[in-house]
Amino acid sequence: MRAPEVGGVRLPDGRGQVLRLAQGASLSDFADKIDVNPSQLVQALFNLGEMVTATQSVTPETLQLLGEEMGFKVQVVSPEDEDRELLDSFDLSFGEDEGGEDDLEIRPAVVTVMGHVDHGKTRLLDSIRSAKVGEGEAGGITQHIGAYQITVPVDEVDRTITFIDTPGHEAFTAMRARGAKSTDIAIIVVAADDGVMPQTVEAINHAQAADVPIVVAVNKIDKEGAQPDKIRGQMTEYGLVPEEYGGDTMFVDISAKQGLNIDSLLEAVVLTADASLDLRANPDMDAQGVAIEAHLDRGRGPVATVLIQRGTLRVGDSIVAGDAYGRVRRMVDEHGEDVEEATPSRPVQVIGLTSVCGAGDTLMVVDEDRTARQIADKRNARKRNALAARSRRRISLEDLDSHLKETSQLNLIIKGDNAGTVEALEEALMGIEIDDEVQLRVIDRGVGAVTETNVNLAAASDAVIIGFNVRAEGKSTELANREGVDIRYYSIIYQAIDEIESALKGMLKPIYEEKKLGQAEIRQLFRSSKLGNIAGCMVLDGIIRRNAKARLIRDGKVVVEEMTVSSLRREKDDVTEVREGFECGLTVTYSDIKIGDVIETYELVEKPRD
Ligand code: GDP
Repeated sequence: MRAPEVGGVRLPDGRGQVLRLAQGASLSDFADKIDVNPSQLVQALFNLGEMVTATQSVTPETLQLLGEEMGFKVQVVSPEDEDRELLDSFDLSFGEDEGGEDDLEIRPAVVTVMGHVDHGKTRLLDSIRSAKVGEGEAGGITQHIGAYQITVPVDEVDRTITFIDTPGHEAFTAMRARGAKSTDIAIIVVAADDGVMPQTVEAINHAQAADVPIVVAVNKIDKEGAQPDKIRGQMTEYGLVPEEYGGDTMFVDISAKQGLNIDSLLEAVVLTADASLDLRANPDMDAQGVAIEAHLDRGRGPVATVLIQRGTLRVGDSIVAGDAYGRVRRMVDEHGEDVEEATPSRPVQVIGLTSVCGAGDTLMVVDEDRTARQIADKRNARKRNALAARSRRRISLEDLDSHLKETSQLNLIIKGDNAGTVEALEEALMGIEIDDEVQLRVIDRGVGAVTETNVNLAAASDAVIIGFNVRAEGKSTELANREGVDIRYYSIIYQAIDEIESALKGMLKPIYEEKKLGQAEIRQLFRSSKLGNIAGCMVLDGIIRRNAKARLIRDGKVVVEEMTVSSLRREKDDVTEVREGFECGLTVTYSDIKIGDVIETYELVEKPRD
């Protein structure tokens, strides 16, 4: 059988063999697997019209297409599959409770609060938190660790609920994008005086897509103009039919500000969980969970808030969280107290990781430090590859030219106070849609202050630095000033998005439109040793303006497309414009003018973008 030719390059025959390649693999990785020189694959793709280097990541479609041409069946392995295989190679697995039905015990529901900006999400989380102070919780909830637990009596039984303490769906979506399901129930807050707004709809969509039951908190009922019934009607359009209308969604009218009906809302959460979810987990196994927040603490080092999903986490356990590993040195709860053990649905701050993991990373206990480290190292390598793949855009030969000529790119470096916000911000910014002409690229991101390293990178790649709830440290402000690097600080996501969006719009090249000013006919010609040919004209229509752009028309044909009216006189006076019906003398930046020529002036006005 003849070996296949791909783009004129002779390559091995796959004969239907299955090839597994990681998402984000490069042509080098591919070449390794089929034992050819990477440059052959580069050449083949080049001839097919796509320019990629050997080490550059290529899209799954390209891998598949190239493979197919040679007769291979290419399977592009997703990061999730890859991670499963990685854990499998250590005889581990994530996401399953060990044992059978009998080993499962009831666990509290985990709740995220979502809704439109200013509808009262933060206020609600605050009032739930403080409503519980003095109800037996020593000292109340004093620490912002990213989540907290409260208890509420339902049918005379104390029930616990875990609240994720970052309002909004950005964090929820970012976590979900990583395959982390951290939320059991969503409370969607709608202000009764405002109604269903775009982010309300977004929140509903996110919750529904994640298959998370919704409880609706109709907030601000203390306000004049509050129309809780109208909200019920509006929500029905999105498939959320109130129980009192025969549906199965619980609506509770509350005032987060006055602390009104908070207990009823909590009860609704418990009842919704009981009705639609089977919230059980095996507490007697090595702990598994998800990191909902992580940051670098000056005194304590990397700190991650983990929500335990199954098993029990104990001080001394060897853990791996994403690409970070370590041993649990201490655990602290939302009351600022040390805890020795954390059971399912319990959020705890874990101290002892060697680096900062990402929000949404899974955490699991393994039997040995060495295993934790090996898994973390492998994930780290993979993350670096994936990141490189993401930041390199595939450019085909056709695109290349127009890309360089026409695209403006805004490079960003994002620094924030914790991994969740950085990720949420990046996600939100990447979601800005402007125009193909301008592109946004996040070239680096991280947790902590803006450092000199960040500024140097920004200077080298012409990037703007965004500091979210962080400031510049040491001499970085000075360096930034010297290098002309723009550092912008924000503490509100929407503000950052708005500003970046307008910056991107500002990068769009203006579109100009021609606006006709007027026409003049040359009736006489004078020679001036100083000015050259002076045209004695009659303005036929509109106006002739000094410094205006002009074209020269002779016998109905445009002879000169671009010239300028360089001087303009009426009688003996220099003037800026002359109107229809008047005579004038003018010179233009073109000398070969004749009697009978028509000078048409116009200006270019910027057309606003919509
Ligand atoms: P978020 O953007 O959804 O987190 O909204 P916030 O919790 O920051 O609340 C936005 C504004 O609405 C703040 O000024 C709150 O004090 C106010 N607010 C929140 N809940 C209520 C409420 O129940 N009644 C009244 N009158 N104002 C409220």
